Amino acid sequence: MALTHNLGFPRIGAKRELKFALESYWKGESSRDELKATGASLRQRHWNDQAGLDLVPVGDFSFYDQILDTSFMLGNLPERVQGFHGDVLDNYFRVARGRSAQSAEEHADCCGGVAAGEMTKWFDTNYHYIVPEFTAATEFRLDASRLLEQLAEARAQGVRTKPVIVGPVTYLAIGKAKDDSDRLALLPRLLPVYAELLETLAAQGIEWVQIDEPILVTELDADWQHAFTTAYHQLKSCRVKLLLATYFGQLAENLYLAANLPVAGLHVDAINGRDDVLPLIGLLPSHKVLSLGVINGRNIWKTDLTAVLDWLEPIAERLGERLWLAPSCSLLHVPVDLASEQKLDPELKSWLAFALQKLDELKVLATALREGRAAVAGELAANKADLDARRASPRVHNPKVRSAVACIVPHLGMRESSYARRTPKQAALLKLPKFPTTTIGSFPQTAEIRQARADYKAGRIGATAYRQAMQAEIERSVREQEKLGLDVLVHGEAERNDMVEYFGEQLDGYAFSQFGWVQSYGSRCVKPPILFGDISRPRPMTVEWITYAQSLTGKPMKGMLTGPVTILNWSFVRDDQPRSESCKQLALAIREEVLDLEKAGVRVIQIDEAALREGLPLRRAQWKEYLDWAIECFRIAANGVRDETQIHTHMCYSEFNDIIEAIAGMDADVITIETSRSDMELLDAFDDFKYPNEIGPGVYDIHSPNIPSTAHIVDLMKKAAERIPAERLWVNPDCGLKTRQWGEVIPALANMVEAAKTLRTAA
Ligand code: GLN
Ligand code: ZN
Repeated sequence: MALTHNLGFPRIGAKRELKFALESYWKGESSRDELKATGASLRQRHWNDQAGLDLVPVGDFSFYDQILDTSFMLGNLPERVQGFHGDVLDNYFRVARGRSAQSAEEHADCCGGVAAGEMTKWFDTNYHYIVPEFTAATEFRLDASRLLEQLAEARAQGVRTKPVIVGPVTYLAIGKAKDDSDRLALLPRLLPVYAELLETLAAQGIEWVQIDEPILVTELDADWQHAFTTAYHQLKSCRVKLLLATYFGQLAENLYLAANLPVAGLHVDAINGRDDVLPLIGLLPSHKVLSLGVINGRNIWKTDLTAVLDWLEPIAERLGERLWLAPSCSLLHVPVDLASEQKLDPELKSWLAFALQKLDELKVLATALREGRAAVAGELAANKADLDARRASPRVHNPKVRSAVACIVPHLGMRESSYARRTPKQAALLKLPKFPTTTIGSFPQTAEIRQARADYKAGRIGATAYRQAMQAEIERSVREQEKLGLDVLVHGEAERNDMVEYFGEQLDGYAFSQFGWVQSYGSRCVKPPILFGDISRPRPMTVEWITYAQSLTGKPMKGMLTGPVTILNWSFVRDDQPRSESCKQLALAIREEVLDLEKAGVRVIQIDEAALREGLPLRRAQWKEYLDWAIECFRIAANGVRDETQIHTHMCYSEFNDIIEAIAGMDADVITIETSRSDMELLDAFDDFKYPNEIGPGVYDIHSPNIPSTAHIVDLMKKAAERIPAERLWVNPDCGLKTRQWGEVIPALANMVEAAKTLRTAA
């Protein structure tokens, strides 16, 4: 009993082998065959790593994105790349990454420039997929070659395979109709292709197929619920057994629907959706398998195996052969192997589990259920000892931090006066012109900056030499900004490797892995810092750099911080307390920094909350609760300053309409946002009633090497002024400039400053 399986394995490789192979192929430094060989060897290794399971996923490997793979498998390619006569994999990368026109004229129809597919977040993870594109005319045609090849490889390796595919309803739900047509109208055309796929797999002798339908953990209206019933009734006659997989949350009101779909088995997330499990067992027809995701596929902590067994044993008793065990979701969202970590201190390391360790945990649980706990007594005892040590560790628990959080009172998050009273005081001090100009924080991270940081980390240069190198960069940024005539300057963030890691490294309660990479999209990976203990700030983190920068100029220098919500959302967080609790601790630490900056004479302080929206729960019904504490945390961090100090915040591209009240509730004096690509339409959300404070809509698209002309910027700002009174507008780029070159930044900002002057004289 208790068959074990896995929903998906990280494909990037423990040493990011896939990333490097992809990037070298894209640069033309290696051949397609070499890239394919790397893919094959990663798959082989990963199946080997999972060989102890009863069923191993096949089809979870991808050269870029599993949703884009699905689009290719279903023959749903965007029109702009159809008719390409080169290699399929190259066409696939054209959709994934876009391609600028090279010899546009002769090849306009085949391999000329194409726009990349849009990318968006995969549910509430930090993984981004390529959005399927539909129109009313979309037709589907099966191409199962990729999946069949991988299946053949796996079988040649002697692996017990379970193909993994994305289900039809989720596939339609996460895509976009380019012509605003009804995506659900495509279901009758899509289902025969799925039926053909399942038949193809059946013909291969496949018994079980995992069909992912995570959309079931979101709020579905009646049409979409109905689509589930239609789809699975139509697929029911296929000769494979379907394991319908949901994850990332609770089924809640979709529980009955999910339980009664005509499939052979259901996988549910028993971490985030644990409350579903007992009701589900009651509802589930007695022939169905129930797979429980009991190991957290989203974090890096060891599982409390004894606690899971206490809960699981009675369930196993009831379900017998019908119970399967798995991680909660694909392990795509965790790093591969804890054993690679050579520098993490042993105590902390003993609390963690990456993908391979999670699979080991799964095996221990299954053995305990099959043979009794005594069969794994050693493993259980060791697991308990590690968890007990973590619970008791003084490195995790800091009573001072606890009591500071307990003492949080509402006035901590309140400015002394309202925005209307603060602005004149700020204006009197800052003496800014109308349409003031500024930038979002970072200036180009040049090769020299990266070299100096690498040298310092490797011990090739000392602290003094490093500080001098960074000061020289800061001075360069300040001089350039003065020459350009910007109004509020920044120091340029030369000393920061990353906007979260930089703060994490200086806060107590944070740790850093060497190889804890997680795929963000394509070849891009992030290495989230590990928030393991109560957070405190032993010493100021930015004051020295900012005051140095301020000493170089008479213009106001903006202090630059990352906000508590963003630090939280881009970290691996604790599982032993609510996220809100960790966020409050971060808020208090950032507050101390804000107050120290103010004390040091800094008059403008920006607190970035680029990831605020990313933390929104999957279900809208839970948004308010999240926004309440997230905004409170920002306010605690920001609002301890005097009226005279101007607080800015910044957010990258984001939908604001549905969270505008929360954004207004932050009560920052100025918010800068990414808007240039939306032609200022995003500003519609910020009408006077809803948003009374100042706004800097981005006018320079920093993702592109293009230099915006003065006329274009003036035009954008005029559109902005149609929506926001001119006296509340700032002029700035969309986001930080760290990924650009000085050669692009200087002319672009010169045009921006010129545009501001034009606007002032016109006004
Ligand atoms: N201050 C940061 C920078 O300029 C903001 C980055 C971001 O919003 N992602 O780089
Ligand atoms: Zn940004």
